[in-house]
Amino acid sequence: MAEHESLEFGKADFVLLDNVSLEEFMANLKLRFEKGRIYTYIGEVVVSVNPYRAMNIYGRDTIEQYKGRELYERPPHLFAIADAAYKAMKRRNKDTCIVISGESGAGKTEASKYIMQYIAAITNPSQRAEVERVKNMLLKSNCVLEAFGNAKTNRNDNSSRFGKYMDINFDFKGDPIGGHINNYLLEKVGGGVFKCIFQLVKGAPDAQLRSLHIQRDPTAYTYIKVGGQIKVFADFKAVTDAMKVIGFTTEEIQTVYKILATILHLGNLKFGSDGDVTLIENSKLVSVLGDLLSTKDENVEKALLYRTVATGRDVIDKQHTHQEASYGRDALAKAIYERLFCWIVGRINDIIEVKNYDARVHGKNTVIGVLDIYGFEIFQNNSFEQFCINYCNEKLQQLFIQLVLKQEQEEYEREGIPWKHIDYFNNQIIVDLVEQQHKGIFAVLDEACMNVGKVTDEMFLQALNGKLAKHAHYTSRKLSPTDKNLEFDRDFRIRHYAGNVAYSVVGFIDKNKDTLFQDFKRLLYNSSNPVLKAMWPEGKLRITEVTKRPLTAATLFKNSMISLVENLASKEPYYVRCIKPNDVKSPLLFEHERCKHQVEYLGLLENVRVRRAGFANRQLYPRFLQRYKMISEFTWPNHDLPSDKEAVKRLLQGCGFEHDVAYGKTKVFIRTPRTIFSLEEQRAEM
Ligand code: ATP
Ligand code: MG
Repeated sequence: MAEHESLEFGKADFVLLDNVSLEEFMANLKLRFEKGRIYTYIGEVVVSVNPYRAMNIYGRDTIEQYKGRELYERPPHLFAIADAAYKAMKRRNKDTCIVISGESGAGKTEASKYIMQYIAAITNPSQRAEVERVKNMLLKSNCVLEAFGNAKTNRNDNSSRFGKYMDINFDFKGDPIGGHINNYLLEKVGGGVFKCIFQLVKGAPDAQLRSLHIQRDPTAYTYIKVGGQIKVFADFKAVTDAMKVIGFTTEEIQTVYKILATILHLGNLKFGSDGDVTLIENSKLVSVLGDLLSTKDENVEKALLYRTVATGRDVIDKQHTHQEASYGRDALAKAIYERLFCWIVGRINDIIEVKNYDARVHGKNTVIGVLDIYGFEIFQNNSFEQFCINYCNEKLQQLFIQLVLKQEQEEYEREGIPWKHIDYFNNQIIVDLVEQQHKGIFAVLDEACMNVGKVTDEMFLQALNGKLAKHAHYTSRKLSPTDKNLEFDRDFRIRHYAGNVAYSVVGFIDKNKDTLFQDFKRLLYNSSNPVLKAMWPEGKLRITEVTKRPLTAATLFKNSMISLVENLASKEPYYVRCIKPNDVKSPLLFEHERCKHQVEYLGLLENVRVRRAGFANRQLYPRFLQRYKMISEFTWPNHDLPSDKEAVKRLLQGCGFEHDVAYGKTKVFIRTPRTIFSLEEQRAEM
């Protein structure tokens, strides 16, 4: 008996549950987790539970088992989804995407890597050198991005602090010929905690560290002390080599490390004051910075202590207060890190993007996109970053609703199949609350940031309260003074589809504005290091020329989310829903409440209901016949019935599956996966 039918491991597809209830769902999920079956389907959606231990299910032999198979022929696995996406792309010329979601530590990034690994393994059977090179670069780019974009957090030792969408392009043979990466909102955690920083301090050769003026002691650096240390050090050499393989020049790689060193030194920079004058206490660091940034020491000092302001036609230097100088220093560290990261992504894209592909000669260039993006976050203290992340999850949930729930219902209507409507919560209302023009939270925030003069976070909160007092999903301490769950005056709360989250407005205004002093931009642009200079083109403008306000962080993020969702919606989607079984990284513990909460907010039960009320499988009549005609005397080798639809009916009647199917205008709909399994078996016996 096939594994997917063996009850010992629970039901391989939640659609097969006897009753669709949360209890049964949870019991099945738990049983499978305990039996080491970390993947379960809901139709074509993979539900994955992080095993927190090495599983022997990703090797070459497993890959072979999934290659070219149909989803229902093998036990649930990421490889099956990857193969389904690949087949859709190759056989039907469809652009597809695999959306991986789940909270921090649920296993998204690991899943995306296995998917990439699978695709790399099954493509290019003829071992064309050029394709091998492209594949290698795609895999190596992952390694570099992880080093620069991942950090240790209290939830995940290797947490991706950026959202990532990667397109892989394929030629007509189905072999990878290039790719493109989009990154979303690198969290500004200060340079300290990112993996690459530790790799540098712990792993760089002595001579290199000396040239960067860095000691081999992470505790010597304030930013690292604040961020906490990583115990496991991924290899400095591996990342440097990966950059080389991808095609970064020696000068570029050196500049990357100079920038990291700059950030560490900046963190140690101390300001003091002498009367009214703000000073740098450890002025030796200024010349270190001058050296690393290839610029004059006095320029560094000036940018750290003064800002140039235009008053009418005059330009004057205004000294920072002690506090402004510290603020500027930290803003600089964050900004250069963020810019470095975006630059790295940009460089990788330059190198991996498809070149010289002529569709007229080579046929259509198709795409598989893989999205690995932060899941819903609820911390003790939630700020602008969590707000953006959770908004992103609302957008993705909306897409899921549109594609899986709504489209499914609409397809039945279109095909003329009787259908009982399933209720689900449509979160569009929350998406609107955040992104609507003029009234949404982002719009109110941008408006506050546009104001000249000092607008405080509190004033922003007042504006929100004014505009959104009546919104069913918005409240604040001011609006609900008796609500015990709203502790602080500076909080507002959103009822997300996944639950309530209180956000502190502290820092919203600052984080939304581009708050890096112009002087720093000019400093970096005027570096004699061409790589660094190229990262800061806007530093070219003189103070009197800076007129256009840069787009706010909220607007940039909103725009990138809207285009991401549009892009995904244009592709055939596959979903991986990741669940984190416990908060202590244990392979044994299935924390019931934690898991239940995730199942609820991922909308998995609704997903099963729609699937069940509906049909597990649907196929166009000709395609169905093509696959199964050999199992019926009425259809093999050809049928003489008036239409393919009639032929399919005859075939299914003959097999005794009449009760389990419905006939639409163009497709046959099969209710339970069992019927499909059985058809597959009969086919295999022929
Ligand atoms: P974040 O949102 O913080 O980036 P994530 O969802 O990407 O989190 P991962 O980094 O993929 O989470 O997984 C966290 C850890 O869980 C991994 O470092 C690994 O130890 C373990 N893990 C996840 N998936 C698997 C798997 N399939 N097999 C074994 N271990 C896994
Ligand atoms: Mg991750």
